[in-house]
Amino acid sequence: DLRKVLMSACLLGKKVRYDGGALSVDDQIVERWHSEGRIVSVCPEVEAGMSIPRPPAEIFKGSGKSVLNGEVNVIENDGGKVTNEFLAGASIALNLCRKFDIDVAVLAEFSPSCGSSAIYDGSFLGKKVPGMGVTTALLREHDIQVFSQYEIEQANKALIE
Ligand code: SF4
Repeated sequence: DLRKVLMSACLLGKKVRYDGGALSVDDQIVERWHSEGRIVSVCPEVEAGMSIPRPPAEIFKGSGKSVLNGEVNVIENDGGKVTNEFLAGASIALNLCRKFDIDVAVLAEFSPSCGSSAIYDGSFLGKKVPGMGVTTALLREHDIQVFSQYEIEQANKALIE
């Protein structure tokens, strides 16, 4: 069997984002992965039972600190704490990687679950800081390579190596 790749469901056109929208990448490599049956899709937040739509969430004062270690929380813009849901979603994504023997993922940049090089800073003012989402952090802790939708060529290299 060809090696599989985990992808954020919203990047595949599924309307699972907090605002009820999708992000959809239009990319030939992703098309090929799809036709080869390589793609395993996940939305960690929806898998954890969160609704569509849902309030926007950010990692509160998250720069350089880890939700996995309990150093910081994930907070909705109305103040609700959703750390446990985000941790549950990350575990579901990790279990999918184990089930399908996946070690490469393409996840949606800037999301508090799926971001891989930058996330919003917890102020809900649209400010980004270097960092990663909760699912990305957990996958990386287990040696899964996580790329964003802007790094699909690199992800493809990692997949076919
Ligand atoms: Fe997309 Fe990830 Fe957010 Fe789900 S949790 S909508 S897959 S970025």
